[in-house]
Amino acid sequence: RVSCRFIDGAGERQAGAVLVAFEDITHLEQAGQMRRDFVANVSHELRTPLTALMGFIETLRGPAREDAKARDRFLDIMEGEASRMNRLVGDLLSLSRVEGEERVRPTEEVYLKDVLTSTLHSLRPVADEAGVTLEPNFGEVPIKVTADLDQLIQVFTNLVENAIKYGGSGGRVTLQISYVQRDPALRGPSARVKVIDYGPGIDPVHLPRLTERFYRADSHRSRELGGTGLGLAIVKHIINRHRGRLRVESELGTGSVFTVILPCHEP
Ligand code: ADP
Repeated sequence: RVSCRFIDGAGERQAGAVLVAFEDITHLEQAGQMRRDFVANVSHELRTPLTALMGFIETLRGPAREDAKARDRFLDIMEGEASRMNRLVGDLLSLSRVEGEERVRPTEEVYLKDVLTSTLHSLRPVADEAGVTLEPNFGEVPIKVTADLDQLIQVFTNLVENAIKYGGSGGRVTLQISYVQRDPALRGPSARVKVIDYGPGIDPVHLPRLTERFYRADSHRSRELGGTGLGLAIVKHIINRHRGRLRVESELGTGSVFTVILPCHEP
């Protein structure tokens, strides 16, 4: 799309020339459309639990007023809907924060092994509850990266949580760290962290869009498990800020591998 406007039309025309400025506004239109889609998605995601809450409030005021058992059950459901909204707002704030910081270079020097150990430590109860064994395979080489520690923990938390949530039927989730001296993807030394699950995998048609906001490969399962559809979008922005890459490989019936590639120091 092109926008066209006359510059100083009258004067120029008198002199026998008309000056016209052309500007490609395709990107502006695309950005506008993306903003509108985002607002529509957020409204839809918030409206669903809100509608449920309003319905239950009405029922509690009316038919369930005298029924203590039904009241308790409805209050439980309402609590679930409220915490879904809370998670969504939390993820929206995280996304907006990481987008805002994308141009600010991270400055902390951290060992990847420490970041992953602390991530696994806090996710152990979640894995235990799902009956999933977490298998760290960090190797011997200590790999250091320049990073934002909290954000890096968020990346691996989101990926391991997904591996447990969606791939947990495989019974285990493996984490591997490796070092590549001359990484063609980053043109320098890189650290690669693989989060591997042995669950149902993801249909290849979904892979290119997986990091889009609110994109879900299996919408029903995501909602059932309390997903907001924003986890991988947050991951992508944080990895961009670290000048890294995210790679996803998956095979139906075999499982998925999410690889985070980060520039690192020579060990
Ligand atoms: P959600 O909040 O829905 O989990 P994410 O952005 O974290 O959102 O993930 C997007 C979608 O990618 C999920 O809804 C799920 O369908 C799919 N997905 C992510 N990780 C895995 C995995 N390890 N195995 C299968 N599907 C996955």
